[in-house]
Amino acid sequence: MFDQLRVFHRPSSVATALRLFETERRAGGRGKFVAGGTDLVVQGDRSLRYVVDLTRLPLSYVKRRGRGWAVGATTTMADLEHHAGLRGFASGIVAEAAGTAGSPQIRNMGTVGGNLANASPACDLAPPLLALDASVVVAGPRGRRTVPLDRFFRGVNRTRLDGGLLVEVVLAAPPVPRGGRAGWSFQKLGRLQSDIAVVNAAAGVVVGADGRCTWARIALGAVAPTPLRARRAEALLVGRALDAAAIEAAAQRAAEEARPVTDVRATADYRREMCRVLVARALGECRARTGRNP
Ligand SMILES: Cc1cc2nc3c(=O)[nH]c(=O)nc-3n(C[C@H](O)[C@H](O)[C@H](O)COP(=O)(O)OP(=O)(O)OC[C@H]3O[C@@H](n4cnc5c(N)ncnc54)[C@H](O)[C@@H]3O)c2cc1C
Repeated sequence: MFDQLRVFHRPSSVATALRLFETERRAGGRGKFVAGGTDLVVQGDRSLRYVVDLTRLPLSYVKRRGRGWAVGATTTMADLEHHAGLRGFASGIVAEAAGTAGSPQIRNMGTVGGNLANASPACDLAPPLLALDASVVVAGPRGRRTVPLDRFFRGVNRTRLDGGLLVEVVLAAPPVPRGGRAGWSFQKLGRLQSDIAVVNAAAGVVVGADGRCTWARIALGAVAPTPLRARRAEALLVGRALDAAAIEAAAQRAAEEARPVTDVRATADYRREMCRVLVARALGECRARTGRNP
């Protein structure tokens, strides 16, 4: 699988990882960072000549940051799944999504950074993180930059990392007005719940004291070349009571915003229909979690 590999580095600082990666890149040949290896090893890319292992970097943490959280890139999916603080944040959707990513063995190895950097359209962390307006911090030879997650993905397995190292994911707290309440939901459809998603989705709503929706996020996975926000569906909800008609209209609009393909897991038509169903379920669960049924 890596039979053409020339060098395997295992640095213990971000600066050294970047320097080694750059030095090897200049020496020629293709290389990659590796964390848990659960995507990279499976891909079996025989053109790789060097690998820089990230697992000794001090990037395995979940920390409170203001009213939100900061998650280091090498934090495993299992650590997210079981983190008490994240299980209580935004109805626990980030922890819940992490807990559906493959088997326990995969979640013990697979990392947050790897899940996003691999940029599979079906990756399970993207919808809840998009719904939370998350950003990623990218370190490169010229310093660090913050990229909103909704601008991070460029296509299947393509991102705006541009050779940089994803070091941290920052989760913002939603703008809940005085007297308002937030509710969140993550939904996934796979052959089994722990399989790669046929469709996944996340939603978040804030309902004001008057019962109207003041803020909405709907994020979709596995229905386009990148995970995406269904912005037109979100816009349909703001200013309206979150009743059955509003939910159905937004779910229908989200399905129209999807651009699914047919592959071994599902047809494009099935994906679009399941997108509608999952968004309706997600919004219904969000509404229930706000405790404000119209
Ligand atoms: C059997 C199986 C089942 C799976 N099921 C699911 C599932 O249900 N849901 C799901 O979402 N995923 C699933 N996956 C995919 C995978 O486990 C996850 O995407 C995992 O989070 C990847 O993390 P990793 O650390 O193993 O990444 P790696 O394989 O180490 O890396 C993946 C890619 O990201 C790059 N990379 C890694 N870390 C960084 C970083 N910090 N900065 C820059 N680039 C980086 C690597 O160069 C590589 O290109 C499954 C995989 C397998 C093998």
